[in-house]
Amino acid sequence: MVADYDTNNVFAKILRGEIPYSKVYENEYALAFNDIAPLAPVHVLVIPKGQYVSMDDFSAHASTEEISGFMRAVGEVARLLGLIENGYRTVTNIGHYGMQEVPHLHTHVFGGTKLGPMLNKTI
Ligand code: AMP
Repeated sequence: MVADYDTNNVFAKILRGEIPYSKVYENEYALAFNDIAPLAPVHVLVIPKGQYVSMDDFSAHASTEEISGFMRAVGEVARLLGLIENGYRTVTNIGHYGMQEVPHLHTHVFGGTKLGPMLNKTI
């Protein structure tokens, strides 16, 4: 089943240029911009330009070019921001249990300091 895509979600508006954002990187298939509420010294979001609700939707339905363009963008952002030497973290929240808030696929890129444990133990 193809997930319904909400064309009014905030990242769709960013892609249409309807609301401001702080661009970090762009290629043919992906856009990267600073998170509006950063959780680390570097906190960038990488999104595909196509209309994909989540990583599940994207991995099932995106073209090979879209997938490689998106993955290349994640790596480019890390290199552009000088994150390689010390390392960094990517996080992609998916759906309800993953606590995904915005229904357009986005991968968080965190860096610039030693990050805490991957998850707080909640269960
Ligand atoms: P998630 O919980 O994985 O869906 O993450 C959504 C992220 O989008 C959060 O880290 C928000 O701070 C971020 N966010 C929401 N609106 C904007 C915006 N207009 N520009 C940049 N980041 C945003």
